[in-house]
Amino acid sequence: MLEDDTICAVSTPPGEGGIGIIRISGKNALGIAKKIFKPRIDKDILRAATHTLHYGHVIDPATGEPVDEVLLGVMHGPATYTREDIVEINCHGGMLPLWRVMGLLINAGARQADPGEFTKRAFLNGRIDLAQAEAVMDIIRAKTDLCHRAANEQLLGGLSEEISRLRDRLVSVIASVEAGIDFPEEEDIDTEDSTRLADGISDIITTIEELLLSYNYGKILRDGFATAIVGRPNVGKSSLLNALLKQNRAIVTEIPGTTRDVLEEYLSISGVPIKILDTAGIRFTHDTVEQEGVRRSLAAIESADIVLVVLDGSERLTDEDQRVLESVKGKNTIVIVNKSDLPRKLDGLAGQYIQVSLSCRTGDGLKGLKSAISDMVKQGTIGSREHAWAVNQRHKTALAQTKESLQKSLDSIISNLSPEFVAVDLRGAIDSLGLIIGATYTEDILERIFNDFCIGK
Ligand code: GDP
Repeated sequence: MLEDDTICAVSTPPGEGGIGIIRISGKNALGIAKKIFKPRIDKDILRAATHTLHYGHVIDPATGEPVDEVLLGVMHGPATYTREDIVEINCHGGMLPLWRVMGLLINAGARQADPGEFTKRAFLNGRIDLAQAEAVMDIIRAKTDLCHRAANEQLLGGLSEEISRLRDRLVSVIASVEAGIDFPEEEDIDTEDSTRLADGISDIITTIEELLLSYNYGKILRDGFATAIVGRPNVGKSSLLNALLKQNRAIVTEIPGTTRDVLEEYLSISGVPIKILDTAGIRFTHDTVEQEGVRRSLAAIESADIVLVVLDGSERLTDEDQRVLESVKGKNTIVIVNKSDLPRKLDGLAGQYIQVSLSCRTGDGLKGLKSAISDMVKQGTIGSREHAWAVNQRHKTALAQTKESLQKSLDSIISNLSPEFVAVDLRGAIDSLGLIIGATYTEDILERIFNDFCIGK
């Protein structure tokens, strides 16, 4: 199923940089590179030793014209990222020559790689497992340092090792059950053995439950902690968003009710990505555009993990403010009393809210808001953790299946059923655990899963 072709891609981020790297991977990587590379010292790069660098020029084979001055890296499979032969061309001349070199490589027989295709080959050629392939994609998408660390730990095998250890434990449990099956004169498992077995299985279930607990944390790292900023028009929601992001994406305006879209932005608080939903003011008007904004605000409140209610401290609490506070009942809420640079007129605010007084204009009190958000994030989900990696939705489903099979085998032991029944469920548990690292799929299913979970997210 793996194509025999050779792929190439620019593997440095877009934009102006000192150098840009093009990576070529596949059986014919060296042959294709040879067609467009003129080494300074006459030599045949087909014979170059593995993991060596060669100085020279990329030339247009049609005209002989030099396109860029380059360093060409030669790496022979299988000691490479994809386990195939890899050539890396370090170009020096900015984006334009980089794309010209790409064009020459494609003319010479390479194909432009699909997103994630190098990782896909690494995975299909057995260099990394499925959980690690997912981690590579998480690294590419990481929004903060912490997300990056979590994904990196997963790539280095954190989750995979944990799953392998669990499988080993299960294998030894199965071995002892099967010992019972092999000696049929002992009709069922004796009491002492069955207590030991049940304890072993319960311990594994506990570990799985701990792994499942990391799901919420992982979801926040991957998707961000959803934060809605709500309040009636003109209290300073857009100003707050701008102050937090220190950039001016949302429109700050003096006309009430003009922030009509729900915009999405991210910021990083203690390394946790905070996904900001900037919401239109909650206001009951006949303006259809604004009503749509109100509808979306309410939807954002619904899906938010935390809601920031903004009030204008320089004005009295209005009925609209009360309505906004009413609409966030039951949500994790921080009430922000904005415009602290002006004389305070606001009072009568019920004491049950976490309150932060600040001024978006001067920046006073913003730090206090960040630590209030940070406290709320930590309380709700994170706590202290030994490792940063966490399970994703796919792992969660597989772990839940594993737990279910283990529970069944436990029930069979307690009901004193024959060891065969116990063994069947234990085998089921091993299979579903294997799904996490991709150990129990056929190759074409693995390819489909890779495409769905690693690329298609
Ligand atoms: P929104 O409609 O809730 O998004 O409010 P905006 O962010 O557009 O702000 C409304 C008005 O209040 C603008 O004129 C802002 O300059 C002003 N404003 C926002 N924050 C402050 C603040 O902390 N102090 C003062 N004095 N004015 C502010």
